[in-house]
Amino acid sequence: MADTPLENLRIVLVEPSHPGNIGAAARAMKVMGLHHLVLVNPLRFPAAEAVAMASGAEDLLDRAEVCADLDAALRGCRRVYGTSARSRHVSWPNLGARAAATSLCTDLQAGPCALLFGRERTGLSNAELDRCQVLVTIPTADRYSSLNLGQAVQVLAYELFMAAGAEPFPAGESATPMAAAEEREGFYRHLQGILQACGFLQAPRETQMMRRLRRLFDRATPSANEIHILRGILTELERWAGKGKVDRKNQDSL
Ligand code: SAH
Repeated sequence: MADTPLENLRIVLVEPSHPGNIGAAARAMKVMGLHHLVLVNPLRFPAAEAVAMASGAEDLLDRAEVCADLDAALRGCRRVYGTSARSRHVSWPNLGARAAATSLCTDLQAGPCALLFGRERTGLSNAELDRCQVLVTIPTADRYSSLNLGQAVQVLAYELFMAAGAEPFPAGESATPMAAAEEREGFYRHLQGILQACGFLQAPRETQMMRRLRRLFDRATPSANEIHILRGILTELERWAGKGKVDRKNQDSL
């Protein structure tokens, strides 16, 4: 059983003619946690342009499966989704990118599935779309609906990543702890002491001014580390101004 449903997904590029697009697709996949790239009869692969465009996702290119035909690419797949920039005369069940990603995530829980992308010039043939249970279209402005192949892979990879329950922010960013109330208060007391000492804060507007300064810093939702930096700056300013000039009763230690 796969760790996440996305492990079961194959991104299949049918007869891509520009190796750069293969590299761009690999990069688009890797940033969204997709790993299984399948190439059906690529015009040129391996190729230096693919490596150049992969830019850090060369491992996906190394592990890419190259198949001689669609049958081989789809072996073992439970459900196949095909992408198309155009609406077709024959009616396939057609979903937009976002709804398709949700539906595909559900299907992936049952086993391997494939998402097919067509040729740069002509897309997928009707015979190839016959192999698909669902047709996927990325919504676009009316007149021009055709995305570059690598960019189409990026949009769908992103939608799949989000549909699979990704955190809206990278772990590193969301893990930055916001400063605690007592850390913020320590900073405000420190700031107030210095602003009094240098003559900037004067009655009767002192309270009002401190309130405005609090609003300003609070809007930035500083982290504990950032508060530490701000206090470091204040401490250096005090040292620079000459010890003893600042009324230290308003401060606590760093
Ligand atoms: N002239 C072709 C365009 C191919 S673009 C055509 O009309 O089909 C290359 C591939 O990118 C397409 O086969 C499809 O897989 C994908 N693609 C491009 N734009 C798309 C869109 N708006 N929705 C879904 N897939 C798209």
